[in-house]
This record gives sequence, C-alpha cells and structure tokens, in this order.
Amino acid sequence: MPELPEVETVKRGLQPVLEGATIARVILNRPDLRFPIPEHFAKRLTGQRFSGLSRRAKYILADLDNGDVLIAHLGMTGRFVIERPSGAETPGEFYYDAPRDPVHDHVIFDLSGGVRVIYNDPRRFGFMDLVARSQLAEHRSFRDLGLEPLGNELTGQRLLSLFEGKVTSFKAALMDQRLIAGLGNIYVCEALFQAGLHPERKAGSLRPSEAELLSDRIRAILTKAVELGGSTISDFVHTDGTSGGFQEEFAVYDREGEPCRDCATPISRIVQSNRSTFFCATCQPAKAKGRK
Ligand SMILES: [Zn+2]
Repeated sequence: MPELPEVETVKRGLQPVLEGATIARVILNRPDLRFPIPEHFAKRLTGQRFSGLSRRAKYILADLDNGDVLIAHLGMTGRFVIERPSGAETPGEFYYDAPRDPVHDHVIFDLSGGVRVIYNDPRRFGFMDLVARSQLAEHRSFRDLGLEPLGNELTGQRLLSLFEGKVTSFKAALMDQRLIAGLGNIYVCEALFQAGLHPERKAGSLRPSEAELLSDRIRAILTKAVELGGSTISDFVHTDGTSGGFQEEFAVYDREGEPCRDCATPISRIVQSNRSTFFCATCQPAKAKGRK
C-alpha cells in the first residue's frame, strides 16, 4: 500500500506532466472505483487546464483553472502511468514491480500534446472525486484530517497538545488520522525506535523533550523516505528497475528476532489494533527514563 512518501513521490512524478497541461479527453472504462466516479466527470474535466498539483496526507490534489480540484487516492494498488507519444520515459517515473495489466486501466487522461496519463488499479480501493476548491475542507475525506506530518506543522509543542491526557498508546495515537494525517505503520515503528519510545506507553505520558525528539524524527524519516523515492514494502519500483531505497534503512520494521542495530537485543513484535508493531525492548523502555 502506498504510504505518504510514495504518494509524495507519485505527485512529484506527475507534476511536470500535469501542471499547465490541458485535458483533451477523459476516457472512463468503468463507472466506479472504490466509490462511484462523480457525475459528468469526463465532461467537467474536458478542456480544463491543470493549474497545480499538491498533496494532503495520502491524497493527490490537482487544481483546475475553473476552481475545481480533482482528488485522487491510490488505495492499495493504484498507480499512474505516463505514456508519451515518443515512447520515451523520464527517470523518476514510477511503476509497481508487477507488470501493469491494461484491463485495470480505469481512467485515462489524454492531454493536449499527446501525453496520456493512465490510472490503473487492480483492486480498486483507490478513488477519484471532483469538488470545488472552496468546498474541499468540508469533503468527507478532509474534514476530520489531522495535521500534515511532512512539513512545518508537526512540532514538539503540537504533538504534546495533541497527545495531552490521552490514554491510548503512542502507536495508536500516531496512527490516528484525526491527529496526524497519513503516517503509516512502517514510519510510526521507525520513528518510535529512533525516539527511544516504547509503543505501548500512554500518549498522555509524552514529555516535552520526548515530543521534540519524536516530531523531529518523524519529519526526518518521512523526508528521507521521499528522497529515496518511497519505502516500497509493496513492490514500488522506479522505471529503471531499482526499488525505493528506504526499506534497507529499516531499524525495526519487519525485523522480528533480528538483532537491534544499536544494542543487539532481538527485535520484538507485538500486535496493536490488528497491526504488527516492531520495537527494541532495550532501546525503547516501557517507562520514561529519568525524571520528568
Ligand atoms: Zn536496541
């Protein structure tokens, strides 16, 4: 499943192709993805120009000249494929490891100039929507979204106030999209390790110095994952066949029983909210160290 850094990578790959381009034609090969495609989707998009591409949590937002914004979510297996009339591919474009089966090409955007952008999604957990930019904040996908972790919003102070009084675990609080939007399991495990925090401690027990370190580590991990082109637990590879490099950097994720790189303690795995949590019981003690 694409996590936030992969979505950022996809957005950056699409940016040079979509920004400033006009949509000559939209081909819909089915009426729905995870949700129905909005009414008159093709008609509303045809002739419009993409004015800018951005990302919020795991949503790609494509602004159009008429004030509408196209929302795209990749779900589990969604991918955008760029086809150029010359057949040339630019480094930095992104495909999954598994070959694309055109039977799952659900939405096709033909841009003026001959470039074709195809949305392919075998499992169809992704979706697209089209709303006025002015109504985006009220959209069902956005109204309850927490703060953006890849950027300047996430500070120690913000984290402290988000966690204050909460009896839920660090792990659950960091995974809660209403608090922080788009942080996935891998990044939460790695950030807690780097900050030396036990995943089962209560969110409300976070201390100011720990909050500073944790917010700093979250931003650093996400930034690094974006630089490396995503983490690729799910076969996320570049066109040149190299996979995103972040998985080689995992200190705890998916390393149950292997020695901790810092202290050689075997990495533990527990299940929290039906998801595996990986941590080092020595580096991440159950109780906060030292005095408050
Ligand atoms: Zn350790």
